[in-house]
Amino acid sequence: MRNFTQTRGTDHTIAQQKNFEEAIFDPSASFGGLYTLEKIPCIDFGPLKSLSYPELVQNIFTQLGIQLNKEILKKALEHYKSFDDPQNPAPLVKIHNQLYAQELYHGPTRAFKDMALQPFGSVFSQLAHQQGKKYLILTATSGDTGPATLKSFADQENIFVLCLYPQGGTSDVQALQMTTQNAKNLKVLGIKGDFDTAQNILKSLLQDTSFKETLKAKQISLSAANSVNFGRIAFQIIYHIWGYFRLLESEKIPYGKAISIVVPSGNFGNALGAFYAKMMGLPIQKIIIASNANNILTEFFQTGIYDIRTKQLIKTTSPAMDILKSSNIERLLFALFGPNRTHKLMENLESKHYYQLTPAELQKLQEHFLATACSDSACLACIKESFENGYLLDPHTATALKAAQELAPKDLVVICSTAEWSKFAPTMTKALFDKDLSDKEAIKYLCEEKNIPVPQTIQKLFAQPIIHQDIVDPTEVKSVILQWLSDIL
Ligand SMILES: *Cc1c(COP(=O)(O)O)cnc(C)c1O
Repeated sequence: MRNFTQTRGTDHTIAQQKNFEEAIFDPSASFGGLYTLEKIPCIDFGPLKSLSYPELVQNIFTQLGIQLNKEILKKALEHYKSFDDPQNPAPLVKIHNQLYAQELYHGPTRAFKDMALQPFGSVFSQLAHQQGKKYLILTATSGDTGPATLKSFADQENIFVLCLYPQGGTSDVQALQMTTQNAKNLKVLGIKGDFDTAQNILKSLLQDTSFKETLKAKQISLSAANSVNFGRIAFQIIYHIWGYFRLLESEKIPYGKAISIVVPSGNFGNALGAFYAKMMGLPIQKIIIASNANNILTEFFQTGIYDIRTKQLIKTTSPAMDILKSSNIERLLFALFGPNRTHKLMENLESKHYYQLTPAELQKLQEHFLATACSDSACLACIKESFENGYLLDPHTATALKAAQELAPKDLVVICSTAEWSKFAPTMTKALFDKDLSDKEAIKYLCEEKNIPVPQTIQKLFAQPIIHQDIVDPTEVKSVILQWLSDIL
């Protein structure tokens, strides 16, 4: 079933339509666009509410036309067994009467990226194996994507992963989650430079013909299994539905009653998953987009203007949301306004760093979304207040709680909790006790002075040997990769 289509229409040089498998392996579409589901069907959720998590994934994929070999999907879904509660990988926790947090961080790297990357890595590797092909996946990270990608592909057949991170640009915990990864098919390099430098190296490698030729001689293709890959988005639809069903199960709401969902957003994958669930008919009143001081999405949803001309990236305490170009917005534009309009808007963004929706388009957007942003100081105050009320949350999730408080929708609200607080210990000690400490000191302080137990997975990191020591200059990356591949192949 070729039901994936191109967001910017076709230039007739590549297939207009692809199936799911083709779309995840070769995601580049005409005019620099993306592949996306052509239609989102409306479905009857009633009969699905007591399915197990894997059953729910299988059912929804089938109804969406996401075609995947049953055995491959089944094996991929076994990864949820490594989550804290295998029966309930994405549990809801009550904050107060009408407010719940859906904790999406119970996987191995303690951030919500695992919800999609755990099964996706397995799908990708199994399909590569089936095709008899090898892939080198390049990834650049400012924090959570790197660890989750490495964990997802560690020791997976037919896959190699190269992960670039800016030296000093991630938290110590995040850096350790990468540099202590021990698997032959993984290479982690610290870059002398910032995240943009790392991302630029990656882009130039993806376009480097001599590099690609050298890899080809080793029978390796390059791949970008990044956050715009639909294979990841697909898995991000499910937990929103799962959360709604858990509310039904505990009789917090009757079937059909609408809720609102708050999503701390960056590249807009998580919120796009919620939007697809809404289009499928899940009773969602509003999807509330929470941002930090990088408030480009807030502006967009409030005014219909996406304007990066005068904006600069600000470093905040919620780094996974520090973003200017939010890639998955393009799929939202496609779903609401179609390929021609999406092409025009994205072209404007690329040439003029700006676009603006019409009033009618803005109205259509606002039928589904609300948005607000929160400063670092408001975020820290929110962490403290929540802690005093008995719930510890991380800085990303705090922007969502703040948004829920500020916009106070009448419906029951579910905020997406996207990371465990333990990944951001220095921000926690700052927020709770006004102390500036390093990761290691902060973890010790929380455990020993304040009796707030830091989970073992995070504490253990500091005792593990560092496998990947290399800190390299941008110009050295290519030769280091080729040397590494010759060593292991
Ligand atoms: C990646 C990430 C986000 C942003 O999610 P998007 O799907 O990119 O919008 C928010 N919080 C945390 C902790 C993350 O790791």
